[in-house]
Amino acid sequence: MQSFDVEVRGAGIVGKSLALSLAALGLDVALRGTPASASDDVRAYALSPSSIALLRRLRVWDTLAADAKTAVHDMVVHGDAAAGVLEFSAWQQCVAELAVITDAAALERALDAAIAAAPRVTRVDTDVAASLVAHCEGRAAATLAALGAMTTFERSDTGQRALAARIVASLPHRHVARQWFRSPDVVALLPFDRPERERSYALVWSLPRERADALLALDAATFERELAAAAGAEVGALSLASERAAWPLVVGSAAAWSGPGWVLVGDAAHVVHPLAGQGLNLGLADVAALTATVAGREPWRTPGDERLLRRYERQRAAPTWAMRQMTDGLLRLFAASSAPIRELRNNGMGLVNRVPPLKRWLTGRALDS
Ligand SMILES: Cc1cc2nc3c(=O)[nH]c(=O)nc-3n(C[C@H](O)[C@H](O)[C@H](O)COP(=O)(O)OP(=O)(O)OC[C@H]3O[C@@H](n4cnc5c(N)ncnc54)[C@H](O)[C@@H]3O)c2cc1C
Repeated sequence: MQSFDVEVRGAGIVGKSLALSLAALGLDVALRGTPASASDDVRAYALSPSSIALLRRLRVWDTLAADAKTAVHDMVVHGDAAAGVLEFSAWQQCVAELAVITDAAALERALDAAIAAAPRVTRVDTDVAASLVAHCEGRAAATLAALGAMTTFERSDTGQRALAARIVASLPHRHVARQWFRSPDVVALLPFDRPERERSYALVWSLPRERADALLALDAATFERELAAAAGAEVGALSLASERAAWPLVVGSAAAWSGPGWVLVGDAAHVVHPLAGQGLNLGLADVAALTATVAGREPWRTPGDERLLRRYERQRAAPTWAMRQMTDGLLRLFAASSAPIRELRNNGMGLVNRVPPLKRWLTGRALDS
């Protein structure tokens, strides 16, 4: 059996990025998993500047077509009353952009092309001998069962689904991302340039499972009417520009992320609610942290050294825990329908909006994940 330094199990965006990143250190990497299918994922990811910096170092970011990545300059979060509005801007934060909305399928394909050209990455379809197995199998994490008692994955079903689609609007997006917290729904319209430049959005609509299923079954015109009622008038008339797809919303985290010869990365280690658009950003931050840990190892340690991997786990535990608390807290806050809590949360949003240092701190957390 051919032996490798690392086997990366799972070829999603996190797995492929990790394979490229470790291979760039001079390690021989086996990547287990099939390339992305040709069918287009309707999602577009809000990527943070740190994620973009990683993809740029991997020579993937600059290969993406201009209309596959759209900068977000401003973000407006609407509560469920007029007082509840929070506005964030790149200008206030002194950064070029708050995030870049990136076409999911285009990113998968760009990573596949980089993998095909990487001399130290070999695609495999079976287990291989390796010092380290990096589990990047995502939230399904079927092979985690093989780790047996070494870790468990505490998972909780939110009872919601995230419905995604591409939308074209009658008014230009002006690079503004908008989100409406409408207890229990959360509607996000992320500015995008596909299929129509300056007028497209990637929709992510989180809502109770039964309502999501009902929306999926509607004809396009009725769906557009429901969406118009859920979103604000400031985006103009909205038309469906793709198929609709939905994902069950589970959240959770593994009890342990590493052990002798194995490590968990990305959604295999932690799954957060997409309302903050941070799941993939956390996974790519894991990739950067694990690569730096392996690169900085003492000469006598192998990449699968248990103590080495604990350093990675310790480094990533706090930011992941904080993001999980924030998204879970927001969900709980906006799930409550009683009038006093409703008033409190909307007034709270208005208050935060009037305190620029607090807003800068909040934005900083999202930019750093
Ligand atoms: C609607 C929606 C919108 C989102 N929007 C955002 C956003 O704006 N920003 C953001 O940062 N995040 C977002 N996320 C979260 C993001 O999608 C995930 O965090 C990210 O895709 C996780 O990547 P991953 O590579 O860890 O896992 P996955 O994407 O699940 O990839 C895992 C891969 O492993 C493969 N696999 C599984 N088992 C095996 C096995 N035994 N052997 C080999 N291969 C295997 C799978 O087929 C898959 O290809 C969103 C999620 C949803 C549902």
